[in-house]
Amino acid sequence: NTTAITEYETIQVLGHGNGGTVYKAIHKKTSNVYALKVVHADSDPMMRRQIFREMEILRRTDSPSVVKCHDIFEKPDGDVAILMEYMDAGTLDSVSKTGDVFTERTLADIARQILNGLNYLHAHKIVHRDIKPANLLVNKKMEVKIADFGVSKIMCRTLDACDSYVGTCAYMSPERFDPDSYGVNYNGYSGDIWSLGLTMLELYVGHFPLLSAGQKPDWATLMCAICFGEPPSLPEGVSEEFRSFIECCLQKDSGKRWTASQLLSHPFCRQLENKEL
Ligand code: ATP
Ligand code: MG
Repeated sequence: NTTAITEYETIQVLGHGNGGTVYKAIHKKTSNVYALKVVHADSDPMMRRQIFREMEILRRTDSPSVVKCHDIFEKPDGDVAILMEYMDAGTLDSVSKTGDVFTERTLADIARQILNGLNYLHAHKIVHRDIKPANLLVNKKMEVKIADFGVSKIMCRTLDACDSYVGTCAYMSPERFDPDSYGVNYNGYSGDIWSLGLTMLELYVGHFPLLSAGQKPDWATLMCAICFGEPPSLPEGVSEEFRSFIECCLQKDSGKRWTASQLLSHPFCRQLENKEL
């Protein structure tokens, strides 16, 4: 460790989750601000497993589109903390709930950044498994970064068959419920692409796309919608590029879904290179 945890002062709770508590913390000497995710030794084993998984992955990653880990603290009494870069605009979920609408151009920029992160992770054999607006952090520079690796997986040669029910079930792809029907060429990575597609659609329409606005989610309705329904799609009035992009993400057959690197070359993302701001 380059610093000691006593050099930081927690000044505010940023969020609670299954994985622990995240604080806004200030480095007393430099006044630099960070996010500190803490799990206590007496937390349940599931929580502790999640934070160790997250530590393992954050240690290995270095991408502008993945939240940066500056330090890791493990106290002898078993408390664990991850010091991360502070993302000062919250999550994409909180941003979308302010009621602001995202233009296609903004969405293309968001998609490009998430894909940049996913492309990096997938190339390093990491599947995130919980891509959703609440796990995508934003700062005031409009940088978007992937966070929360609590249920992620470092892939070995094969995928174990019983890993399906981790992550938020609402954003899970059809093959995670039924690999026999939807998992031709299933490799795990494509599940993140489905979740990205749902996320982009949600940011555009302003509510979770597999339910109508205000509808209460229940597990059975969701699973039926994911596995037996047509994949959700964009309403009238969007560009062909955007419509096609969402279709490429939301293929029910995981083998037909585009990869992160293919999607980075999709015209929806490429439009950002050509046009002036
Ligand atoms: P959950 O299980 O609910 O997904 P979690 O315990 O796994 O939560 P995270 O998703 O990593 O934890 O973080 C919980 C919340 O803390 C986030 O939704 C976000 O509001 C806030 N947060 C996490 N990391 C940061 C960060 N680096 N900068 C700013 N806020 C953050
Ligand atoms: Mg989370």
